[in-house]
Amino acid sequence: MTATPALSAPAAGAPLDATTIQRRELGEHDVLIDIKFCGICHSDIHQVKDEWGGSIFPMVPGHEIAGIVAAVGSAVGKYSEGDRVGVGCLVDSCGKCEYCARGEEQFCVETAVQTYNARGYDGEPTFGGYSQQIVVKDSFVVKIPDGLELQHAAPLLCAGITTYTPFKHWKVGEGDKVAVIGMGGLGHVAVQIAAAMGAEVTVLSQTLSKKEDGLRFGAKHYYATSERSTFKELAASFDFILNTVSANLNVNAYLRLLRVDGTLVNVGAPPEPDSIHAFSLIAARRSLAGSSIGGLPGTQEMLDFCAEHGVAPAIELIGADGVNAAYDRVVRSDVRYRFVIDVSTIAAA
Ligand code: NAP
Ligand code: ZN
Ligand code: ZN
Repeated sequence: MTATPALSAPAAGAPLDATTIQRRELGEHDVLIDIKFCGICHSDIHQVKDEWGGSIFPMVPGHEIAGIVAAVGSAVGKYSEGDRVGVGCLVDSCGKCEYCARGEEQFCVETAVQTYNARGYDGEPTFGGYSQQIVVKDSFVVKIPDGLELQHAAPLLCAGITTYTPFKHWKVGEGDKVAVIGMGGLGHVAVQIAAAMGAEVTVLSQTLSKKEDGLRFGAKHYYATSERSTFKELAASFDFILNTVSANLNVNAYLRLLRVDGTLVNVGAPPEPDSIHAFSLIAARRSLAGSSIGGLPGTQEMLDFCAEHGVAPAIELIGADGVNAAYDRVVRSDVRYRFVIDVSTIAAA
């Protein structure tokens, strides 16, 4: 076992504090990673506050991990000491079911093991990236391409793959009219990825305060959803809408912005249910769908795509002492656009 400094939440909603956790011995297929940076995803906050239920405490959050390989097990061929690598939301799966076989480990029928707030197949709780080292099975590690700085690569491990996956799955491409609801961590990456795929992107944000940034990220249009006229003006105008909002919305109002056969995909994960009116769908043969992170091959493909197209999260780098305040700012939609923790600042406790 290796002791490593970490930040942990002792109970639901409690502030995070420095602690020391143990990482398992390096198995033959394992990679020991010196974590350099870890992004703060709104999912970390939902889970630390136990908003989805079933949280396991103490919790060390963090599933946007970028670092350097420190050691590899005897059977690891793909990585060696010094490699720049990432770990996202998953650290294990059965490896045998139909979804694992096609590289969509997030749907594993035996349970995909989440990077934190879960139990591994050994029954032990998993601890995430708000820590200085992690031991991960080699098949759940990805390479960070040279063109991406580690601190910018980190948020892509969740925000990047979660938005890349639905655009790929629904074949968003050249000339498609795409809207992104919410320009936070996921949203600002979604705008860049959709634009890089050739779509004509519109941001639907609560206000116009981030309009300049949105246009810089590649959006053609930017609307405030606090204005009622937005919903009139944009009626039946999009082929595809990605909802990245962490809170409940009037989904019917957004469905009506879709053209015939358009699809609204929800990646935002508010704890409370939405209310959907059947006519919002029936009226124009619209679809409402959801999408969950992405598998390992897709994660590597996404990183390579971002490096090639110059997609990079806009980040605010913080130390360990800034994490609790950063959580409050994310909840207030006051994030520009992803907080990333420099994990070297986590003091041993
Ligand atoms: P975030 O940085 O907080 O961004 C969410 C954005 O939504 C905010 O910046 C804000 O954008 C908008 N928003 C927030 N509250 C709102 C409200 N009451 N009404 C309207 N708009 C509101 O969060 P994130 O890290 O991007 O995560 C977003 C959601 O995706 C979370 O629920 C998270 O758990 C979920 N998630 C899901 C997956 C998946 O696999 N499906 C993966 C990762 C995250 P504006 O200021 O522009 O309005
Ligand atoms: Zn996440
Ligand atoms: Zn499986």
